[in-house]
Amino acid sequence: MKRIYNFSAGPAILPVEVLEEASQGILEIHGSGMSILEVSHRGKDYEAIHFDAKERLLRVLGLSSDEYTALFLGGGASLQFAMAPMNFLRTGQTADYINTGEWAAKAIKEAKRFGTVNVAATSEETKFSSIPKSYSLNSEAQYVHITTNNTIEGTEWSAIPATPGTPLIADASSDIFARNLDYSRFDLLYAGAQKNAGPAGVTLVVARKAYLEKAHDDVPAILSYKTHAKSDSLYNTPPAFAIYVVGLVLKWIEGQGGLAAIETRNREKAALVYNSLDEYPDVYDPAVTEKADRSLMNLTFRLRNADLEKPFLAGAQEREMDGLKGHRNVGGIRASIYNAFPVEGCRALADYLHEFADTHR
Ligand code: PMP
Repeated sequence: MKRIYNFSAGPAILPVEVLEEASQGILEIHGSGMSILEVSHRGKDYEAIHFDAKERLLRVLGLSSDEYTALFLGGGASLQFAMAPMNFLRTGQTADYINTGEWAAKAIKEAKRFGTVNVAATSEETKFSSIPKSYSLNSEAQYVHITTNNTIEGTEWSAIPATPGTPLIADASSDIFARNLDYSRFDLLYAGAQKNAGPAGVTLVVARKAYLEKAHDDVPAILSYKTHAKSDSLYNTPPAFAIYVVGLVLKWIEGQGGLAAIETRNREKAALVYNSLDEYPDVYDPAVTEKADRSLMNLTFRLRNADLEKPFLAGAQEREMDGLKGHRNVGGIRASIYNAFPVEGCRALADYLHEFADTHR
């Protein structure tokens, strides 16, 4: 099997061990004589997979199943932009949002359909090149919403902001499982699986049970967190294959030593690339101005001479490095190095950064 260095921002690289096991599961699961693609979501074979993934998800995040519940939903993280306010915000009420990038702005746009949004801080005026250091929270806010990692711009919150007395909701689509955060700081967390957690098709939602009880009841059943919590994400047919692969990824994370070990490796991987960029300030222009805000997952930069971007990408492709082109709205280069991305790939990119700079300065 050929494997190139896949720097795609998502869907993204998955561990080879997971792909191997999943390909077996496509043929047959648990000696059942049926493929994971064929089994009933009400049967015992699928149920075992479903509940194992649910338990593992909380365990990996260090959360207790007494206090938290994990849901597997459809609709991508984009549905959560609407579902969170639909469940927790009403006309006449306010929610605080911190605007750190394009995805945060989309979440804000949806929330405005349901109530008043107080943009408690924004880094838009500096093209989202850093995380705001101060914010003015509204004491009446129903919740505060943040985006823990900004996939397009390449910034991340180095520490979770304090929101005393106000529930905290987060879009963790591009950094769930990347760091050993204190996940109990969040009341509701959501993440499309297709970056760090599995294939496209399932969205992970982790919620404090006591917070879900406060959700509004005048919500269509399929869009109500309560519906999915009560039925263990089996209210309707779940994206069974995607959930199965998420379970395999979680098993892989545990086998790697959990989030602490994963974070250590992610820091080493990111440092290889960032240090190489910083060695050539006349050639490379990292997009994120404050080092503490630099993402471990999506590393963004430009070439000072924009004409060199095309040859840079072509040279990368020749070296079997794919997916380095920046998001279409911001341009430049983006190296996404999720958990499954190997350290050798970061070394290969670091070597290429040196080589390219030495021949083009
Ligand atoms: N939030 C963030 C931070 C993202 O990176 C993305 C996808 N790139 C989304 C939300 C939207 O996710 P989906 O495509 O699953 O709706």
